[in-house]
Amino acid sequence: MGKPDGFMDSGRKPPERRPVADRKTDYLEVYRSWPEDHSREQGGRCMDCSVPFCHMGCPLGNVIPEFNHQVYLGDWAKALEILLSTNNFPEFTGRICPAPCEASCVLSINSDPVTIEYIEKEIADRGFELGLIKPQPPKYRTGKKVAVVGSGPSGLAAAQQLNRAGHCVTVFERDEFIGGLLALGIPDFKLEKHVLRRRLDQMADEGIIFQTNTNVGVDLATTELLKEFDAVCVTCGSTEARDLEVPGRELDGIHLAMEYLTQQNRVLAGQIVSPEDRITAEGKRVVILGGGDTGADCLGTAHRQGAEVVYQLELLPEPPDQRDTNNPWPEWPTTMRSSPAHEEGGVRDYNVLTKSFTGIDGIVNELHAVRVDWSTVGDNGRPAMNEVPDSGFELKIDLVLLAMGFLHPRHSGLVEELGIELDPRGNIKVDQDKMTSVPGVFAAGDAARGQSLVVWAIAEGRDLAQGVDRYLMGRTSLPSSSQAATH
Ligand SMILES: Cc1cc2nc3c(=O)[nH]c(=O)nc-3n(C[C@H](O)[C@H](O)[C@H](O)COP(=O)(O)OP(=O)(O)OC[C@H]3O[C@@H](n4cnc5c(N)ncnc54)[C@H](O)[C@@H]3O)c2cc1C
Ligand code: SF4
Repeated sequence: MGKPDGFMDSGRKPPERRPVADRKTDYLEVYRSWPEDHSREQGGRCMDCSVPFCHMGCPLGNVIPEFNHQVYLGDWAKALEILLSTNNFPEFTGRICPAPCEASCVLSINSDPVTIEYIEKEIADRGFELGLIKPQPPKYRTGKKVAVVGSGPSGLAAAQQLNRAGHCVTVFERDEFIGGLLALGIPDFKLEKHVLRRRLDQMADEGIIFQTNTNVGVDLATTELLKEFDAVCVTCGSTEARDLEVPGRELDGIHLAMEYLTQQNRVLAGQIVSPEDRITAEGKRVVILGGGDTGADCLGTAHRQGAEVVYQLELLPEPPDQRDTNNPWPEWPTTMRSSPAHEEGGVRDYNVLTKSFTGIDGIVNELHAVRVDWSTVGDNGRPAMNEVPDSGFELKIDLVLLAMGFLHPRHSGLVEELGIELDPRGNIKVDQDKMTSVPGVFAAGDAARGQSLVVWAIAEGRDLAQGVDRYLMGRTSLPSSSQAATH
């Protein structure tokens, strides 16, 4: 522990966010740079508890007290070495992880947790700035060929691990950009894309081959893949969005959140979208259905596009401000969460069920909803949804964004052609080694786990790499992620 009384001397001081008025005019990241003395002071707040619950909170098993200690000492190289031993991409998690580790930090029992996520970002960014993060091509090649289908964080983590183990790795991606949701889903104000590009450059320099615009199962038959490669990794994400089957859904002006967010990311990447295809909130009354992270990303984007007003409606009740007694530390708190996008405006409402949309000349202009109550318990023992009598209301709106989550990976094409078994939720079924029901075909990330987080995608990609390496070589020295993570 760097500073025995650090947690008593200093409070939690994360990096500052840029003023709302400024950041609504651009898509740059929300946080300002963090002076070195601030990050070192925050590293010094770590108590180095004898049982570091933060390790268990982190799906990657990041060895947090150890890198906090090195940050406090100002030894960025050592901190980076420790961090990279468990996490391939700390520059992503340091920006967009919801930081379950901080919810498990012992300090958070009665105080504010250590700023673990920002410390992680700082270590990673300094690693790049100081030239400490360099390509690490393998010293020898095994002669084995591995295909990775899908270039999100899970596929990228698997590819980097397998390449470093000496296998020849090709990553196939159906989009024109590499990165999965990091590239096309997550807005720049959370993750500027140069952060992704510098990592992809490093991976290409390590010898990984990236092949874009290749929809495996459509543009490239899976039989070809199985013939040409010794193992196939399916990291195709959970891309089937939950839709809303209500009258009026067919009206113009109603879009899935991903249609909206991916288009904005493409525009920021320099692509030209014709005015008739452009989905924009400029000057519009916008309603977002879904109170989660995707909804918050739509909210931030709508404000940057110049929306007149934005409503974010959620079917479920408003979470409590404090932990309930049945949700104690160190569990992930099911409390109210707000992202920086919520600071920028918008109206949040809960217990709202959308019943229909109506429009004029085929364009949506009104949402019809009722309020619901969740206070009774259904036959399955879970809260039951009941419509509140006479609670119907209307909202005048011009743009609807459906951000209600994702069901499972797309089954047509890749998954069906491979003939791999699915679990009851429609996700890909895998064993301990992340192998599917088809020998030599592995799966990880959202495609197998269901819609989740970047940190889980990286952790699963690392575990998959270990399973593939063992399958190909009969043994492996690749590390797995911590199996101790609790959430
Ligand atoms: C809008 C949004 C915001 C989010 N924000 C956060 C956040 O702030 N923090 C966080 O931790 N998590 C966030 N998430 C969740 C996180 O992005 C995902 O959990 C994570 O990206 C999953 O990684 P993955 O590699 O499994 O899949 P993905 O990132 O979905 O990547 C899968 C890739 O596979 C490709 N693909 C699919 N089928 C084929 C095929 N047949 N052939 C070739 N390529 C194919 C897809 O085009 C895609 O590029 C967010 C999700 C969304 C939708
Ligand atoms: S990856 Fe996420 S959970 Fe793990 S240490 Fe970083 S912020 Fe915490």
